[in-house]
Amino acid sequence: MGEFDLIRRYFLPVANAERHPSLVLGPGDDCAIQRVDQGQELVFSVDTLVEGVHFPANYPPEKLARRSLAVAASDLAAMGAEPVCFTLALTLPKASTDWLKAFSAGLATASREFGLSLAGGDTTRGPLSLTLQVHGTVPIDGAIKRSGAQVGDLVCVSGTLGDAGAALSLLDQPSPTAEQAALLARYHSPQPRLALGKALRGYASAAIDISDGLVADLGHLLEASGAGGVIDTHKLPLSDALTALRPDALQLALNAGDDYELCFTISEPSLDSLNSQKTHPEAMLERLTVIGRVREGPGLSLDGVSTQVQSGGYDHFGSQ
Ligand code: ADP
Ligand code: MG
Repeated sequence: MGEFDLIRRYFLPVANAERHPSLVLGPGDDCAIQRVDQGQELVFSVDTLVEGVHFPANYPPEKLARRSLAVAASDLAAMGAEPVCFTLALTLPKASTDWLKAFSAGLATASREFGLSLAGGDTTRGPLSLTLQVHGTVPIDGAIKRSGAQVGDLVCVSGTLGDAGAALSLLDQPSPTAEQAALLARYHSPQPRLALGKALRGYASAAIDISDGLVADLGHLLEASGAGGVIDTHKLPLSDALTALRPDALQLALNAGDDYELCFTISEPSLDSLNSQKTHPEAMLERLTVIGRVREGPGLSLDGVSTQVQSGGYDHFGSQ
């Protein structure tokens, strides 16, 4: 099977599965074309995932496709962007029909789920890796940046923290219990908080998605904002499964990555008016937890005890 056959057979159906109206031209030409309406800005981000580094070897292809697109989409959520389309640069050791079938099926489903159309890509041979560029839009100056946190703002997170980190030691479990399965689902199927991100536009002062762990990622947000902060650790949202299975639940919630929840800062009046908005049912506003407050910087403290902002999180070049 040649490169073009492969694209036609496995990736054009993905492009046809979800057609965003702003994607004027999808795969097949030298470039794709995206229309950006007047008054809107293009928001984009690229992520590379390498086998053995970002996902385990022999990871199921259907899960790999969904997880990769979810992780990429999470960056759009963190900016409050409306998802539009993505490109996929795929490097494969060989053209295995079974692998491609499962991967493209997973990608089509995820593409529909997140409202991201496949706009184009590149297909090459080599060790398995994926690079996804996602495109979204916001009204001009409407994106939620990391740098806008103000002293006195509340620090909030969505969902629960630490679950995906706890799943890492369970990935090879042949028959997981219900509680273990709940944690594994958080690792395999992260939920980019796209609806929440959009709902936070105009309310949150700053936002970031938690990919490397709360302490590390909130640390990035505070640093970008030139501020500091405090986390009340007893307020951290922990799932029942995590507290049941892990005595170190709190450590995982603070330092483990891969949850892809949003962490954002917001003034008290803005949180009140956000909560009084009944127009965002799908944004899961009821699952937001206030976990701390922005203070004069620098530094992040846990219950008043100062901590190293950079502790936790994964740094590819940290040991070089
Ligand atoms: P070029 O040589 O002009 O860069 P390619 O031969 O790499 O073009 O790709 C031909 C077309 O197929 C392009 O429109 C490209 O976007 C698309 N394409 C290639 N690989 C993929 C893929 N994995 N998924 C979707 N579209 C792809
Ligand atoms: Mg070309």
